[in-house]
Amino acid sequence: MAKIIAITNQKGGVGKTTTSVNLAAALAATKRKVLLVDLDPQGNAAMGCGVNKDDIEYSSCELLLEEVPVSEIIVKNKALGFDLIPGNADLTAAEVQLMTAQHRERRLADALLSVKENYDYILIDCPPSLNMLTLNAMVAANSVLIPMQCEYYSLEGLSSLMSTLRNIRDTVNPGLVLEGILRTMVDNRSRLGKDVSDQLIEYFGDKVFRTTIPRNIRLAEAPSHGVPVLAYDKASRGAVAYIALAGEMIRKEKAAKK
Ligand code: ADP
Ligand code: MG
Repeated sequence: MAKIIAITNQKGGVGKTTTSVNLAAALAATKRKVLLVDLDPQGNAAMGCGVNKDDIEYSSCELLLEEVPVSEIIVKNKALGFDLIPGNADLTAAEVQLMTAQHRERRLADALLSVKENYDYILIDCPPSLNMLTLNAMVAANSVLIPMQCEYYSLEGLSSLMSTLRNIRDTVNPGLVLEGILRTMVDNRSRLGKDVSDQLIEYFGDKVFRTTIPRNIRLAEAPSHGVPVLAYDKASRGAVAYIALAGEMIRKEKAAKK
């Protein structure tokens, strides 16, 4: 049965999509079966997997509106190593339509039920806001992975995200846990970055992944080739970091099971 992880942060540009695509690839490289769900109308995760978001028949929009069965939406790509449910601008319309729909916050959870047993991990790339799409992700998920940059305002954003998480746990999804906080675009020369990073560890302890993702140009270049960084430059610091993150996640899970 898949573990479903929502990759979320209401702030844009913190590395959600980069983490979704590259963690999916890194987990797939360890022979795990992975499904990546693109829930952002920008469709960046789809593009980063080499799928043209404007050229697809169905997207996660039809999934949320229950118009097409999930099996018909999943894009399978052997070369990529994992499956994908692409997203595109239709999601904006889906979000509006969901506003007045029944069970509107459970659509994704319900849709994933029928494919859950086919995967080890289902990763959900969330949009940069706490809207109905993100709520659907957090209701469907077992855990939340929060990528963040260690900047001055990041901690503030994080506290509102944590209170949202608590809210959802108290109401619609009692089992939801924090998978971890991932420090992204890390620049070891930054004093401020180090201070924020220290504060994070003080508050969140071992919920902060030990693995950090360095600022690495290869990570930014790979999407323009439509592939995860592992398929673009597997020796790059970015690729090595995402492999390490997958390893850390798997080790933590094994330790928790014991
Ligand atoms: P989000 O999905 O949170 O909006 P993205 O993953 O799209 O963030 O990242 C924002 C931008 O930063 C993108 O152009 C991406 O290529 C780039 N980027 C993300 N992570 C890194 C990194 N570790 N090093 C360099 N560039 C990065
Ligand atoms: Mg994104």
